[in-house]
Amino acid sequence: MRAFLRVLAGTGQIFYQTGRERAMDHKTVRGRFAPSPSGRMHLGNIYTAAAAYLLARSAGGEFFLRIEDLDPVRCPRKYADLILDDLIWLGLSWDNDPVPYQSERTKIYERCLALFEQKGLIYPCFCSRSQLHVASAPHASDGRYVYSGRCRDLGPDEVQKLLKTKRAATRLILPDLDISFTDGNFGPQHFNLARDWGDIIIRRSDGVFAYQLAVSADDAQMGITQVVRGWDLLSSSAPQIYILSLLGQKAPQYFHLPLLSAEDGSRLSKRDRSADMGFLREKLGRPECLLGHLAFFLGQIKEPEDISLKELLQIFDPAKIPGKDIFVRENFWQKNID
Ligand SMILES: [Zn+2]
Repeated sequence: MRAFLRVLAGTGQIFYQTGRERAMDHKTVRGRFAPSPSGRMHLGNIYTAAAAYLLARSAGGEFFLRIEDLDPVRCPRKYADLILDDLIWLGLSWDNDPVPYQSERTKIYERCLALFEQKGLIYPCFCSRSQLHVASAPHASDGRYVYSGRCRDLGPDEVQKLLKTKRAATRLILPDLDISFTDGNFGPQHFNLARDWGDIIIRRSDGVFAYQLAVSADDAQMGITQVVRGWDLLSSSAPQIYILSLLGQKAPQYFHLPLLSAEDGSRLSKRDRSADMGFLREKLGRPECLLGHLAFFLGQIKEPEDISLKELLQIFDPAKIPGKDIFVRENFWQKNID
């Protein structure tokens, strides 16, 4: 384990940065938008896409797209096609071709798994949902369950016996290690892997690779240096920085965004039909109109008014992105069709 900690320490200079200018200070910025196609994009998705695009492009960097369709049942190809279509409509062009689909990259994830196995960092977990509930402790700050490590010490005989009747998930051991980094929007962040996460599942018992592994393996393989996404994924940065370090990769710059929420404080979701991209394209008509709303949400203009992507890129200032969640008026789009 000590060797890995050295790797991790070696990445310190990269992500221990201060101030909000860090998103602008890389000559080789490579940002990404990595949507999961479990439905048509909604306002929150396209807002994230636009922010990721603007942060990468305003730094003179590249912008990559990746489709996170790990779960083939939840993510049919028709939704991925719609994501591409909606991004093109808004003008958010990407630099990588072909676009990687996680469903076609299992070999990459298998190689990571083999590497971790070689280093003795993974173990099979046979816990059922109800056992997990009993064997886990709720995390103090956000109520997430932290796995107790119940299956970590199973002997080889026990594992063989259990494998005869049960399929195992695979867990990665997360050590008692502090991870600190400075987020571009939310400032200094400190996590402890064992305390805040516990050992995480990197492959489900049905064989599907888990989000944390796939995201880290892909960011490493694609050379991603800038990660822009909603703050609900902020704490995920800690295990991802750790997995990246196991793969010999530096941590990217992180920039987490405030979330869009409805006026009653609930998070905008796919259930809001008026936030669906199909609906918005029909109601707003022109991409400049939606860009105006996105620019307004991102704190770039005082009132939502039509703006072209080129104009928005010229005025874009990451320091103006709000630090608090953004309330979206119901029928926010209506003013534009009067
Ligand atoms: Zn277990």
